[in-house]
Amino acid sequence: MKPAAFEYHAPRSVAEALDLLAQYGDEGKVLAGGQSLVPLMNFRLARPAHLIDLNRIAELSYVRPHDGGLAFGAMTRQYVLEEDPQVAARNPLLPVIARHIGHVQIRHRGTIGGSIAHADPVAELPLAATLLDAELVIRSQDGERVARPEEFFLHYLMTSLAPTELLCEVRFPALSPRAGWSFQEFARRHGDFAIVAAAAVLEADANGVCTAARVAVAGGAPTPQRSSGAEAALVGQKLAPDTFEAAAEAAAAEADPESDIHASADYRRKMVRVFVRRALEEAASRLPKGS
Ligand SMILES: Cc1cc2nc3c(=O)[nH]c(=O)nc-3n(C[C@H](O)[C@H](O)[C@H](O)COP(=O)(O)OP(=O)(O)OC[C@H]3O[C@@H](n4cnc5c(N)ncnc54)[C@H](O)[C@@H]3O)c2cc1C
Repeated sequence: MKPAAFEYHAPRSVAEALDLLAQYGDEGKVLAGGQSLVPLMNFRLARPAHLIDLNRIAELSYVRPHDGGLAFGAMTRQYVLEEDPQVAARNPLLPVIARHIGHVQIRHRGTIGGSIAHADPVAELPLAATLLDAELVIRSQDGERVARPEEFFLHYLMTSLAPTELLCEVRFPALSPRAGWSFQEFARRHGDFAIVAAAAVLEADANGVCTAARVAVAGGAPTPQRSSGAEAALVGQKLAPDTFEAAAEAAAAEADPESDIHASADYRRKMVRVFVRRALEEAASRLPKGS
């Protein structure tokens, strides 16, 4: 199928794009990598009257150090997460997560901002943003706001972005050199969207007692979720199989999945438990010696 007719706009700056968004409101939609939007338009599930193409806005494509971590312009392509050495140096979890996004061709077109703005509940970058509490820098003609993932991801493919707002930058923190980390994904085939994915970052003291834990799950709810139950089951406990199992059970109990054509709710919940446990085992195995 072909998309419904639309008027095409190619702004050269963020200011110009914000003008167009303010002018067209609900009738406008921005085009980033097009890897999700163009299929939706071809199926006529999206029918913007005005398509605002961000691909000529050079100022939205960059990676720069920010507050010890890294800031990515929204139009930075997803493959940059895999290939830029400063990403691996500051946050080795991000290249691993990025390699699970579709296939290499998709990652060369798809953008970091587009994936987060699209808010697919099983997409890898929204999960990474949730796990690491990324900062999402959003601009409109009224100014700038910085949103956190838990207030940004509202529901399946729904965010707190207003029609006049543009996601401009995504800031990921660095991982502590004392941290062990893991990303585990269950998908039918390589390159498919996940059925369930889990990610964890752990820190421990010299006795192997957990001092800090982050656990997040995709596929257990309409948005990616931190599991406060799993985190509470870890902190203060010796990092050992029983602790991992208790934390994985807590994550599964907190999950509220829905059945769809890929998996039943019951199966997803079971997979949350399995994949959180695997993520915790691997994160613990990556803790520096002496932790
Ligand atoms: C075959 C295939 C397999 C895929 N597999 C995966 C996968 O396994 N995991 C995964 O995560 N993704 C997967 N994707 C999707 C891919 O990651 C997309 O790149 C991503 O979902 C959207 O990014 P985009 O830059 O292409 O955005 P677009 O498709 O251009 O836009 C998506 C939506 O976000 C909005 N938007 C984009 N940028 C901004 C912005 N800066 N500010 C405000 N709104 C914005 C658009 O208006 C649109 O509504 C797959 C895609 C294909 C075609």
